[in-house]
Parts: sequence; C-alpha cells; structure tokens
Amino acid sequence: MNIWQSFKAWRQGRYEQRIAKMRDAGKCPDCDGKGFTIMAGDYLSAAPLDCAGCNGSGSFSDWEK
Ligand SMILES: [Zn+2]
Repeated sequence: MNIWQSFKAWRQGRYEQRIAKMRDAGKCPDCDGKGFTIMAGDYLSAAPLDCAGCNGSGSFSDWEK
C-alpha cells in the first residue's frame, strides 16, 4: 500500500466514523444537525441556506434518503 492509498483509507475511515457518530446522534452529517449551511468566504452577504443533504430538517433520517 503506498502513501496515497493509506491516506485515502484514513480519510475514508474518518468519514465513516463521522457518519456513524451522526447516525447515533440522529443528526445530518452535512450540517451537524443545524439544518442550514453558510457559504464560506462570504459571511457578510450570505444568508443561511437550507442544507442540501437533509433539506433543512437537520435529521439523519432525511440525510440518508
Ligand atoms: Zn443537513
């Protein structure tokens, strides 16, 4: 296994851990259960957007669909 492959495996493992944690918490992994995301780099003019993963509900079951 080369370095790039092990890096990818590490990232994948971290991602799966995060999904499992958010599943236990019942929260959407994309927005941490907040239901919205804010576009980075444009805080002054940005309005919070409904999270695309959970359609703004913040719940894991909606994200899963
Ligand atoms: Zn969400």
